[in-house]
Amino acid sequence: MAKITVTRPDGVQHQIQAGTSARDALKASGSFNKHVIAGKVNERVVDLSAPLSESCVLAPIAIDSAEGLDVLRHSTAHLMAQAVRRLSPQVQITIGPTIADGFYYDFKRDEPFTPDDLSHIETVMREIVSANYPVLREEMPRPAAIDFFREMGEHYKAEILEGIPADVVSLYRQGEFLDLCRGPHVPSTGCIKAFKLTSIAGAYWRGDERNEMLQRIYGTAWASTKDLDAYLKRIEEAKQRDHRRLGPSLDLFSLHPIAPGSPFFHPKGTVIYNALVEYMRRLYGRYGYTEVITPLIFKTEIWQTSGHYDAFRNDMFLMKVEEEEYGVKPMNCPGHCYLFATRKHSYRDLPIRYADFSRLHRFERSGTLAGLTRVRSMVQDDAHIYCTPDQLDSELEAFIALTREVYGVFGFDQVEVTLQTRPEKFLGRIELWDAAEAALRRVLEQAGYPVTVLPGEGAFYGPKIGFDFRDVLERSWTLATVQIDCAMPERFGLKYVTPEGTEATPVMLHRAVLGSLERFIAILLEHTAGKLPFWLAPVQVRVLTLTERQDGYGRHVTERLQQAGFRADLDNRNEKLGLKIRETQLEKVPYMLVVGDKEAENGTVAPRSRSGETPAPVPIDTFIEQVRHEAVPGAAH
Ligand SMILES: [Zn+2]
Ligand SMILES: [Zn+2]
Repeated sequence: MAKITVTRPDGVQHQIQAGTSARDALKASGSFNKHVIAGKVNERVVDLSAPLSESCVLAPIAIDSAEGLDVLRHSTAHLMAQAVRRLSPQVQITIGPTIADGFYYDFKRDEPFTPDDLSHIETVMREIVSANYPVLREEMPRPAAIDFFREMGEHYKAEILEGIPADVVSLYRQGEFLDLCRGPHVPSTGCIKAFKLTSIAGAYWRGDERNEMLQRIYGTAWASTKDLDAYLKRIEEAKQRDHRRLGPSLDLFSLHPIAPGSPFFHPKGTVIYNALVEYMRRLYGRYGYTEVITPLIFKTEIWQTSGHYDAFRNDMFLMKVEEEEYGVKPMNCPGHCYLFATRKHSYRDLPIRYADFSRLHRFERSGTLAGLTRVRSMVQDDAHIYCTPDQLDSELEAFIALTREVYGVFGFDQVEVTLQTRPEKFLGRIELWDAAEAALRRVLEQAGYPVTVLPGEGAFYGPKIGFDFRDVLERSWTLATVQIDCAMPERFGLKYVTPEGTEATPVMLHRAVLGSLERFIAILLEHTAGKLPFWLAPVQVRVLTLTERQDGYGRHVTERLQQAGFRADLDNRNEKLGLKIRETQLEKVPYMLVVGDKEAENGTVAPRSRSGETPAPVPIDTFIEQVRHEAVPGAAH
């Protein structure tokens, strides 16, 4: 038989017989160990049993590598389908791909799966693992495979096969179970040791709501029980921090089907909301922004001019009024362009920085709405800057400084910067785009940020930089963005008079630091697990009385705090102190002040912090002086 050359990733070569399996070739080249579950031939991941017919670069795939986990998770989907089939022989199996951290499989079964079913399925899965069936690849002509699955009553599989443009298809067998699959897979079911089925959901066949509803079972699989446990802990932590859970439990906001995707902010949530706006307003004073108020509803002509009507119309709320088409604005920029054009501007007026906290509405599809992170109604800390080309760099620098300051206040220290460049469909002249992208690069380099370029991801009207913040759960969120507009100023015919007395088009920037306040609040709640910094906490201090005797003194202390500018309230219910403390902790109030007879007599309070510290009682004015600095954004705690 012919010899072939197998090259290891480090360049070392070995001669082997053509037709040797990937497993034996890895062994021959000294790169096999018990963690290896697949091989990588050139750039393709293959079964360990795959025969090598040509010379190639061959690398081992370990079970805990990204590619190894993908093979493992997809193999676990097969394992689950086999178990489901054993438990309900009449079930039809459809597709079972991997997803981030796990996998799912969609089933057609008349009775709905219940959480109890999941543990039964897991038990059978473990039996199949113990049996350690080899996972074997078979090939079949496509027409034969169609007949085979149709005979088994697997109509979905037959339908999938009809759409595959190949003469021969591959199947994977483990024990009695045979599934249509491209592979690759683990060599035997015994390799799958750490898995858990996590949830059940409905899903339409091929994701199309006109099709039949199937039942989806989600699961996760890991290289070791230790990794699985760590993952389940992360998920539990994320659940505890989920803003959709914290929002209602802290009485901050709620959502109602009467206005899908449009949150109701309760009094406490509104405190957070307004504190964020006030904070940005103070910064605006220092960074030279002026706030404006612009209309909510416009004739759609404005978006025909801006270009949004073509690109964004399906995401807007439109209506007919007096035979004309109107829309609710999804963004502020076109309105700001109209505002700019209401007066004649000279170069001396520039830069002009219009800030606008207007409410915006975007028509997000019902199925995509999620808590505060995907909404139809929102407010951004939005602003548009109009400047001369000479002022562009310093405007970008000032924006980066502002972003740094804000991120510093929130303690967002894990930041990655992306540069999103010209997409295929774009408006405006290409020279403007090139100059804009160059300016963004230049300024980011000077600021010392390493930059990830995302080619083609810019908006249709200009390139963009995004400041991605990584939260405690290692999730990445784009908050601050700045875009240079290569289209709108020309389309709206905006002009300013140059020092030479000629007319020129201003440069326009779109920028936000927090982004949408709704989304920002969601992210902040999850990042802090609801323990908001003192300056944002809806209730900053709660006074707890020990008995009815301190009622009057408790009131006095609460009023003193309120007069000093703090958000304080009083719990003078006739309840045990332990219960009052527990409830206040659940509400994540930064400070409790306990007052009993001794405190009332001495004019003191006994503080107790959110983290459980209980320093000695102090006079009320001393406490006020101690926490005053925390009311300033960016203070410790
Ligand atoms: Zn498969
Ligand atoms: Zn804008």
